[in-house]
This record gives sequence, C-alpha cells and structure tokens, in this order.
Amino acid sequence: MIKRWDTCGILQECLTNINILAGSSEITANTRNNWELCALCGTHKPNEKLVYPFNSKQKDCGSGYSSLAEILPKFAEIGEVPIQVPLSGLDEGKGIEETLRSHRASWHKSCFNSCSNEKLIRAQKRKHEESSDCSD
Ligand SMILES: [Zn+2]
Repeated sequence: MIKRWDTCGILQECLTNINILAGSSEITANTRNNWELCALCGTHKPNEKLVYPFNSKQKDCGSGYSSLAEILPKFAEIGEVPIQVPLSGLDEGKGIEETLRSHRASWHKSCFNSCSNEKLIRAQKRKHEESSDCSD
C-alpha cells in the first residue's frame, strides 16, 4: 500500500529547506522566472499594465531595481515578503538588482507599491507588536 501522504511530507520538507536556503546564492540554477510577466507576482493581471523601469525615460531609470534590491531582503528578514514569487528567483547569484536589470524586469505598479518603505515599516511594527504579545 502506498502512503501518499508520506511522499507529500518529504516533498513538503524539501520545499521548506529550499525556502530556508533561498537566501544563499547557491541555489539559483533551478529558479527561473518568466520575465515576460510581473517579476513580483509572476502573474498576468488583465486589468493592470506592466511598468517597465528599464524603458523609463526618467532620469532615475532603473532606480526601481535598486530600491527593490535594498528593501526585499529587509522584508525577508522579518518573514513578511510582500511578493508572490520566491526571493531566490530574483537573485541569480549576482544580487537582486543585477538580476532584475539583466532581465529588464517589469512589474505591476501595485506589486511594486506593496514593497514600499512605508509597507516595510508597517510590517516591522506589526511584527514587533506580535512578538511582544507572545512574550507575556
Ligand atoms: Zn504583479
């Protein structure tokens, strides 16, 4: 008799391990994003156009890449990553900014906005409140 749930358990454990290791640059080979889609949610939203920072005519062209590269690890630190794709998929070994840049990554404005500094502060605050609740 095949215990299917055992297999699932092992798979689950593997996935968990991959997530734990996602911060390291070692596991990058098998993480491949579809860069045609939003780099942050990996989906197509019929009602929302993608923003292409690379094609931006603004002076600070590409600044979205560096701000994401800076802020996403901070979200990861508190375990509140606001994006749907695994963070490891945004770092192919050269860092998030370089990876996004080299793929000319695009995203939905709403997805990008969910990675704002304001959201980070709010998440940190929430996390802090949660942890102080538990300590009682
Ligand atoms: Zn998106």
